[in-house]
Amino acid sequence: MRTEKHKYLVIPGPVEVRPEILDAQGQWMIGHRSNAFAELYARLQGKLRQAFFTQNRVFVMGSSGTGLWEGASRNCIRDDKKALHLVGGAFSQKWAEVSRANGKQVDVLEVEWGKAHTPEMVADALKKATYDAVCVVHNETSTGVTNPIRDIAQVVRQYDDTLLLVDTVSGFLGAEFRTDEWGIDFALTSSQKAFALPPGIAFAACSDRVLERAKQIQYRGYYFDFIEIEALAQKDNTPSTPPVALMYAADAQLDAIAAEGLENRWQRHMQMRDTTHNWAHSRGLGLYAQEGFRSPTVTTVANLKGFDIDAMAKFMSGKGFSMDKGYGKIKGKTFRIAHMGDMQPAILEEILSGLDEFLETVK
Ligand SMILES: *Cc1c(COP(=O)(O)O)cnc(C)c1O
Repeated sequence: MRTEKHKYLVIPGPVEVRPEILDAQGQWMIGHRSNAFAELYARLQGKLRQAFFTQNRVFVMGSSGTGLWEGASRNCIRDDKKALHLVGGAFSQKWAEVSRANGKQVDVLEVEWGKAHTPEMVADALKKATYDAVCVVHNETSTGVTNPIRDIAQVVRQYDDTLLLVDTVSGFLGAEFRTDEWGIDFALTSSQKAFALPPGIAFAACSDRVLERAKQIQYRGYYFDFIEIEALAQKDNTPSTPPVALMYAADAQLDAIAAEGLENRWQRHMQMRDTTHNWAHSRGLGLYAQEGFRSPTVTTVANLKGFDIDAMAKFMSGKGFSMDKGYGKIKGKTFRIAHMGDMQPAILEEILSGLDEFLETVK
């Protein structure tokens, strides 16, 4: 929706939220120790399990995704053991920093930005050392790379004591993701990317193996203590006050997603990815991410024409679109087009024609 006051968000988070979903937040507040809340919680659990393709519990947290990074690191990595972080962009790098900031021992398996991690690299690393956890980002939002999680999981699953922790913050509900079938122990996401909810609520599918590990760790922290969260989840509740309004929004959005169908939703994202790629190629622009691993939810365009990205963003703002200008060390050399969440192909076409008009001005 574009109005005089509101610019449609084409940035990779927070993304545009439909008015119906914004409105769903405006229901009467309820106390979280009430039956009405337990019903809301239980209803959400059923829908979230379907969305994650899991039989396990799905934690619902009043936080952004970063909080669950911290929770995952604290609850899954023992003090005298190590984690292997797969790093290939700004977000995977930050998660490794989060583990270190919590005093955890971290080895990093790094690839050049724009490249994906291969199962072979992970297999090699796991032969050389023992790890409590492998931490990997499904969809690296800074570079537009989607990692082959299913194949990486097959490698990690050969090690009984190594948990596979996956950040699917910008992949979830936009790119194919099957928690149980792929053998993922912990899959975390937040609300404001392909889920297309307002920011402030985060979710994680959590296996029994993770809880078994957490029990072996004395200092798990307080807010993200998985054992405590699980104890309350058993009663369809949360340890501290949950973001009730955002849970209403999630409840409505999960219905809309089920009505669209998850496979259809993934398909729509791939269609928008292909449209964006064709556009970039035909306009003499490049794609930053390695071929074969390009994200269905966000395209990082290499600015081969060397135009002024600030000027582009300003031009597009005049058309009612809020554009990204690149992230981290590739800001300026690249910009990202998010095609995720509830964006429809027709809107993407409008965005691309706007960009065409801008390109006319710099010829
Ligand atoms: C946005 C993002 C995060 C950070 O999530 P917040 O909800 O902003 O804390 C983490 N990982 C990836 C891949 C992201 O895109």
